[in-house]
Order: sequence, then C-alpha cells, then structure tokens
Amino acid sequence: MARVVLEHLSRKFGDVAALSNVDLTIADGEFLSLLGPSGCGKTTTLRLLAGFLAPDGGRIVVGDRVLSALGAVVPPEQRGMAMIFQSYAVWPHKTVFDNVAFGLKLRRRPQSEIRERVGRMLELVRLGELAARYPGELSGGQQQRVALARALVVEPDILLLDEPLSNLDASLREEMRFEIRRLHEEMRITSVYVTHDQAEAMVTSDRIAVMNRGRVEQIGTPEEIYEHPRTQFVASFIGRTNCLTAVVADGRSVRCNGLPLVVNPNGGIPAPGLIVALSIRPQEILLANDGAAPGPAGGNVLDGRILRHAYLGEARDYLVGIPGTDLSLRVVTNSAQIFRPDDSVRLTIPADACRVIPQGN
Ligand code: ATP
Repeated sequence: MARVVLEHLSRKFGDVAALSNVDLTIADGEFLSLLGPSGCGKTTTLRLLAGFLAPDGGRIVVGDRVLSALGAVVPPEQRGMAMIFQSYAVWPHKTVFDNVAFGLKLRRRPQSEIRERVGRMLELVRLGELAARYPGELSGGQQQRVALARALVVEPDILLLDEPLSNLDASLREEMRFEIRRLHEEMRITSVYVTHDQAEAMVTSDRIAVMNRGRVEQIGTPEEIYEHPRTQFVASFIGRTNCLTAVVADGRSVRCNGLPLVVNPNGGIPAPGLIVALSIRPQEILLANDGAAPGPAGGNVLDGRILRHAYLGEARDYLVGIPGTDLSLRVVTNSAQIFRPDDSVRLTIPADACRVIPQGN
C-alpha cells in the first residue's frame, strides 16, 4: 500500500522557508502533480519525499511506515521509490537493454526473469526495436523513455518525477505527456510529478497541488482547479484570466468600476460591501459587433472598444477597453472573429464566467 501522507512538513534553508507546514495526502495509485512557479518549494518537497533532504518539522508516512521525521530519515535506497530527472541520467556506455536491466541485476533477479521483464517494459515504452542501441544513438525523447523504463521496471511503490520533460522540444513534450499518462494507467504506481507547466500537470494528473511560497494553495482535479480557483494566485496561475477588484452588491451581483455585474453564486458570495476579486477567463467573454443582439439570458452586456489585437493562429487575443471606466479586459475568440483597433464592440459576459474570490485568499 503506497498511500503517501505529508503531515505539517517544513523545511528551511537559512532564513528561507522553502516549505511551510504542508499537509498533503496522495492516494494509493494516484498521480499527483506539484505545480507552481520557480522557487515555490516543489523540488524541496520531492527531495524530502525521496529522502535526499531531512525535514525541520513534520513527517512523511507511506502506508504504515514513517519515512521521514525530525532527526529520523530512512535513506533513499530503502524507501521503495524511483526517481526520474530532467537530465534523463541514463548511462551512455550501456545499451538500452542494459540501462533498463540494471535495477533488476542489482536485485539479483534470474537472467530469464530479467529478459522477460525488460522486454515487456521496452515494449510498453515503445523501444522494443532499439534494445541494442546506446543512448548516444537515441533522440532526447527516446532517452527519456529509457529513463522511464529503467525506473518502472523495478516496480517501485512510488515514482517521483522532477520536470522530466523540460529538456525536450515543444512537440515531443506534448507527446510525452500523453505517454506518461498512458503508462500510469497501465501500471497505477503512486506518482508525484514536479512541473511549472500547467498543461503538463493537467494531462498527466489525477489531482494537482498548486504551490506558492512554500505552501499548497489548492489541491483538486485539473477541472476543479481551473473551474473553481479558490485564490487569486490559483486563478491567475492556471490559465489566463482577467482578475478584477469588485465590491459585493448582493448574493448574486457585484459592482466593478461602477458597473453592476451578475456573478456565479457557486462557492458562496461574501457579505454586501466586502471587497472581492473577480476572475473572468478571456475565452468565456463573447464578442460581437456594436449593436448586436444581447447574448444569452443571465449575461452581463457591456459596450467596449478594441484597444489591441493579436493573431495567434488558432485564436485571436483582444484587449477591450470599457468606455467611461478604466477597465480593460482580455478576450480570446476563434480566429474567424476579426475586429480592428478602435472598433466598437459588444461584450457578453455570462454570469457563470464571473467567479468571485474572497479578498485575502
Ligand atoms: P524551480 O521550479 O525553480 O526548480 P522549486 O519550486 O522547485 O523551483 P525549490 O527548489 O524547492 O523551488 O526552492 C524553494 C526555495 O528554497 C527557493 O527560494 C530556493 O532558493 C530555496 N532553496 C532550495 N534549495 C536550497 C539550498 N540547497 N540552499 C539554499 N536555498 C535553497
């Protein structure tokens, strides 16, 4: 049973609190990403999990074993974990087969079993044809598959992945995200994946823990995190958003820059008069010609003027000013919707797209 529990886990470096009082439970067989900006404590958490670092406070418990506590850390090789790094770290002088077989040889498994397990694993990562090659004869993506196969063949209780795709080019990175998810679905090894790439976390993970300044700000499924961000930080880190300041008017609406806006009531609205943040995703705002019929019922209809326009191939990214206010909103439309700077437009913002985030969150 590889359920992982972090209890009040903390670690400082000098005066820097790299990790502050983190509580986190990773279910048996779950794939969890630690997602956040540079310096938020992701790698520190992974190194604590691996046993490369000792905590200043709190504990790490796997199943019924305490692996780390103040002054008592089980060494990395006795933790039943395998780790994959950015740098692949495959051995250049060993063939693909021997790289993958290494952990099983170390465990003195019989030759026939090694042949069988390595063969199966190489098929699983789609390297069956390349078993006799050396890493120097492989692409970056293929080398990372060797690293994955080498980590998985020993069937660790827990797999730790530290930004494993960041050395690959963009299209390969995209392909490998799906590959990692596919392997997880085959093997169901409890996995912790460190990344600062939102799309990577969303494709690979059952749940994402969004970290900021040594703390977990929110944990949830990719959809929960995107649809119901609980803090301003999460709203703006996960996808693009317009983050506005507003004052609660009643249980269904706020005033923003003097404009009344009907909002999404899910998650609760603070008391009237309180200042809140309002998150509106650019692709949820509808844009039409000036004077067009109002959008769907329950929507907020505003007049605007195009301030800036960028063509993104699959989409267009507009900055729209709201005359009479100092508000400007990013709006992303499909690429067929063409407006020019200075065009007058009509915006419809569905109430469901206006997510209220209490101040201080
Ligand atoms: P990145 O995405 O850039 O790798 P991260 O989220 O993994 O960032 P950590 O490496 O965990 O962040 O670092 C968290 C904080 O702890 C940072 O402020 C970092 O400078 C500091 N830190 C990490 N390791 C050390 C160390 N060995 N000595 C001193 N400070 C450290």
